Amino acid sequence: SQSTNIMGIPFPNVTMDQTVAILDKVVDQESNELFHVITGNPEIVMSCQKNASLRKVVDQAGLVTADGAGIVMVSRFRGGQLTERVTGCDLLFRLLEEGDQKHWSFYMLGAEESVSEQAVKIIAQRYPGVIVKGRHHGYFQADEEQQIVEEIRTAQPDFLIVALGAPHAEHWINKYRHQLNARVAIGVGGSLDIVAG
Ligand code: UDP
Repeated sequence: SQSTNIMGIPFPNVTMDQTVAILDKVVDQESNELFHVITGNPEIVMSCQKNASLRKVVDQAGLVTADGAGIVMVSRFRGGQLTERVTGCDLLFRLLEEGDQKHWSFYMLGAEESVSEQAVKIIAQRYPGVIVKGRHHGYFQADEEQQIVEEIRTAQPDFLIVALGAPHAEHWINKYRHQLNARVAIGVGGSLDIVAG
């Protein structure tokens, strides 16, 4: 089977390497459609049981990865083929490494202003080949959203990294998916805090 069903959610059996390879292709294709990656952590899987709107967001995603030791364990227990975790944070680091070589562009949305600023500074030092086209902290008001969307749309990043916490990031990406003009969008939880150290 191509995927492993965990509490009703089909997780494609992809490793980290395969995930990066899929996204590499998506970036190359220059499609106009935003490819939404959801790192399916236990909170998301649990919320989907009762939250139909989140479930719909997950169903519309381009890829759902297994971001949880429990999810991988359940798969192993059943003799399944989900063999490793693909967490938002690990994925972000892999994309920055790959992007350093391939000059991928990013827009970083989320985290506190000082964290956002520091994360982008560190990325510029450590991954000089990466192009950060813009950033915005994650503590904005509803009436500021359209302006942020506009900024991302103009930046046209290969990757929109959304560190707003789950499932807020997933809903946000889905809500604006037709306006964002990014190739790939990923909710990464607290990863920018980790990048910033
Ligand atoms: N965050 C944000 N705006 C908010 C709430 C949270 O930008 O309104 C950021 C927060 O600063 C942190 C991340 O979102 O960087 C949430 O990290 P957490 O580890 O709680 O997310 P999870 O792993 O639960 O998705």
